[in-house]
Amino acid sequence: MSKKELISIIVPCYNEEEVLPVFYKEINSVSKEMKHVDFEFVFVDDGSKDKTLNILKDFSKKDKRVRYISFSRNFGKEAAMYAGIENVKGDYVAIMDADMQDPPSMLKTMYHYVNEEGYDCAALYTKSHEDYGLIRKTLTNVWYKLIDKISTTHQVPGARDFRLMTRKMVEAIKNMPEYNRYTKGIFGFIGFNTKWIHYTAGKRAAGESKFNINKLIKYALEGIVAFSTSPLLIAAHVGLLFCLVAFITIIVIILKTVIWGDPVAGWPSLACLIVFIGGLQLFFFGIMGMYLSKIYLEVKKRPVYISKETSEDVDEED
Ligand code: UDP
Ligand code: MG
Repeated sequence: MSKKELISIIVPCYNEEEVLPVFYKEINSVSKEMKHVDFEFVFVDDGSKDKTLNILKDFSKKDKRVRYISFSRNFGKEAAMYAGIENVKGDYVAIMDADMQDPPSMLKTMYHYVNEEGYDCAALYTKSHEDYGLIRKTLTNVWYKLIDKISTTHQVPGARDFRLMTRKMVEAIKNMPEYNRYTKGIFGFIGFNTKWIHYTAGKRAAGESKFNINKLIKYALEGIVAFSTSPLLIAAHVGLLFCLVAFITIIVIILKTVIWGDPVAGWPSLACLIVFIGGLQLFFFGIMGMYLSKIYLEVKKRPVYISKETSEDVDEED
């Protein structure tokens, strides 16, 4: 009998004690329905402060398919996904949130596309997000459209991190160990044949979103800086435009003075102009600084995450 294929499920978890039992129950029942494949579950505890790690230890004691990696502190979802990618063994790999907004039951459909229809990846995207308020929904939509326009790679609006990938695709991601990670952009960058499946993202099973406004802004900027140089180009174009305007203005003023002897009056307008141009310069310096800071962090080659303990450590002790 030929060996069954293995699907690895990566689950980033940050303070998810409330949802983990629900998630595990659901994914376990999906795995029972998909008898023709084996499963491994790689939970990544992203420095949780609640009982997440204890729950994961408990899962892995009871179920040999469960492994976990626990970070020394909170490194963020991007780092957690990368830790999973580096450590999974499966022929197919899925990334899934713990809060049930990425319904485990979708795995069957996703597996069908990669296994039977020859896609390298089956990924989910959503047009409506039941859990987001009006402001987050609107800003998310605008941002996704913007990032797709300015990015060097195609990024599907509303794309989730939830996807099932072949081993080849996982290896390609492993070859991108960059420090400033924006996984949605990395998916676009590596290419591969992706089947996009639409779904409506439901509400969190319990607990609250772990992305506060600061994390969301950081994430949005990360996405732009990591996969687009448009802000730098815009700065250069605006600079050029201002030079042109200044040049024309100088000629007009000289001509007015020489021909009509009309001396220029009005320092308030001059003061406003200085403040305006000074502000614009600082703003563009800020943009350049953002790119510079990313280079700075990249050349330092700091680890993307630091693991404090894994299920393998416990297995060795036994
Ligand atoms: N998450 C994480 N580290 C973080 C923030 C979030 O590992 O710093 C995990 C979280 O536990 C969840 C997934 O990433 O499994 C998505 O987070 P959340 O549901 O809070 O985000 P939202 O759905 O609101 O975008
Ligand atoms: Mg969520």
